Amino acid sequence: MKKILSIIVPCYNEEQALPFFYQEIDKVSKELKALNFELIFVNDGSKDKTLEVLKEYHQKDKRVKYISFSRNFGKEAAMYAGLEHAKGDYVTIMDADLQDPPSLLKEMYRLAEEEGYDCVGTRRVTRKGEPPIRSFCARMFYKLINRLSKVEMVDGARDYRFMNRKMVNAILELKEYNRYSKGLFSFVGFKTKWLEYENINRVAGETKWSFWKLFIYALDGITAFSTVPLVLSAVLGLVFCLISFIMIIVIIIKTLFYGDPVSGWPSLVCIIFLCSGVQLFCMGIIGQYLSKTYLETKKRPIYIIGESSDEAS
Ligand code: UDP
Ligand code: MG
Repeated sequence: MKKILSIIVPCYNEEQALPFFYQEIDKVSKELKALNFELIFVNDGSKDKTLEVLKEYHQKDKRVKYISFSRNFGKEAAMYAGLEHAKGDYVTIMDADLQDPPSLLKEMYRLAEEEGYDCVGTRRVTRKGEPPIRSFCARMFYKLINRLSKVEMVDGARDYRFMNRKMVNAILELKEYNRYSKGLFSFVGFKTKWLEYENINRVAGETKWSFWKLFIYALDGITAFSTVPLVLSAVLGLVFCLISFIMIIVIIIKTLFYGDPVSGWPSLVCIIFLCSGVQLFCMGIIGQYLSKTYLETKKRPIYIIGESSDEAS
């Protein structure tokens, strides 16, 4: 019996990129004869003709399956849905825009099969073609999160990875609502090999990630994998108490020995501003964690399926 490789492809408005992707993956599947392919396209509430394109592929190619969400739930939800539906002995997640080269599959398969790796991950060593400010912020983010979190986040790591069943099952055990996959993949551990490659620009269409979306995603990552910001607010509070204590002593001594002409309105205002600012900042941090806990306790489904190829065929 040939082993099955499930390829999960989250698609959000990828009508233009899909034909290139399909052609490329079809080519690779013919070269990789040792595996049977299962292609799971997850249509994440696209507003263009992505679903129509997927239905057409499903009609002519039995390896193609699709899951279509009732609205846009985000890439994380799409990946999770794909992992839940994948039947393969090996599973890989790939973007539809060919930024994750399918040609690496052969090497990934070899490493998993012959060298006993549970997971083969990929990372971009360059960020060529990206706005410099975005690359800079990304680098800073990885530095920060690795300081704050015990789980290691690899700079430039893509969601493109080749996993065996053991690892996929472990990931499926993590049913949290606020999913930050880069962290979840490292959290579950397993023997991982990293393949490196240069950044490739998307073949067609445009990126779905605005700077703001990435910023929110970064915050999600920090709250999901670190509680250090909470400690930080406590430490800040302590430092401020200490400073004010010293100031009180200084003022008492000054008044006792030198008398105290009433002065210092501006400095007082500055102090009030500073302290209330710090308080609001710390409350904001707590609010972040509280809101995540709130969403988590609601136990809402991570995604909702509108239609899928299972019911269609
Ligand atoms: N994607 C998705 N849902 C979203 C946003 C993106 O399924 O809400 C998919 C998208 O179709 C693509 C992958 O996630 O296959 C990566 O998105 P994109 O290429 O826009 O991100 P970038 O590579 O620029 O980081
Ligand atoms: Mg992309």
